Amino acid sequence: MLSTEIKTVAEKLLNQHFGKPVQVTHTSGVGGGCINDAHRLKTSEGPFFVKYNSASRYPGMFEAEAKGLLLLRNSNTVYVPEVIGFGEEGENSFLVLEFIDSAAQQDDFWFHFGSEMANMHRIIMGQENKGHGLDYDNYIGSLPQQNKWHASWIDFFVVERLEAQLRIAREQGSAGPDLSQMFQRLYKHLSDFFPEEPPALLHGDLWSGNFMIGSDGRAVIIDPAVYYGHRYMDLGMSKLFGGFDSAFYEAYNEAYPLEPSWRKSMDIANLYPLMVHVNLFGGGYLSSVKAVLRGF
Ligand code: ADP
Repeated sequence: MLSTEIKTVAEKLLNQHFGKPVQVTHTSGVGGGCINDAHRLKTSEGPFFVKYNSASRYPGMFEAEAKGLLLLRNSNTVYVPEVIGFGEEGENSFLVLEFIDSAAQQDDFWFHFGSEMANMHRIIMGQENKGHGLDYDNYIGSLPQQNKWHASWIDFFVVERLEAQLRIAREQGSAGPDLSQMFQRLYKHLSDFFPEEPPALLHGDLWSGNFMIGSDGRAVIIDPAVYYGHRYMDLGMSKLFGGFDSAFYEAYNEAYPLEPSWRKSMDIANLYPLMVHVNLFGGGYLSSVKAVLRGF
């Protein structure tokens, strides 16, 4: 059940947003999230979505998510829910968004999604030649994600992504020096897997649980871990747990052509989300990481 405190602050936020009193008349739980408690708010201005969690456990999570959603939304490509606001109340922090009412997929759902994603990846506005990174850190799932700017994609991928996760795995005791050595061997060959390209605006966590079908039957992306980086990262994530149709990749490739060998790089790009999974869910994923490192 949604606490009275969250309901009250959400109402306050909606009042500010609309510039008039808004009443929340009913709330109901929304399932499917990994970290947060999520609810639908029925209000006098239509439905809204609120999610919340512990402010002390995940400091700054929703501010970073709201900023990321805005960056993606301002790209005017794949649809992104409007951010109504975020804040803290007592022990909790919360985020209020436009509510996405799901409908059936349009026939061209995957084609449209693929070409819009390609258009998003062409966006470099906001990056202003800073390279790969972002002006602030955010989260990937419940783990902090560091986004210090690097001119080189390979440097960014090694330092901000792989080494950052490896450090956590070492601290947690799930990885030993052998894994570090395997990664070191890979680093020398990374440029074979990532063609030099301009940094792309990335969703950052584009697995099949992070898109919805909107009321117009088109894709809506949610729950991002935004940064500017190599577009292979989003494409890799889309393939990690399956769920994306081949029409997505056909349309993508038409709108923003890929190197013929792009598929061969997906396992390497996915070392990052796999290491995140090692750190969030434990040892089982370590064998997948090692298999990729042995196989490359
Ligand atoms: P978490 O950060 O906990 O993973 P998500 O942002 O993925 O949470 O949201 C949890 C679930 O709520 C999603 O799987 C989706 O079904 C639903 N959801 C997310 N955003 C919205 C929205 N704006 N409108 C309606 N439902 C949403």
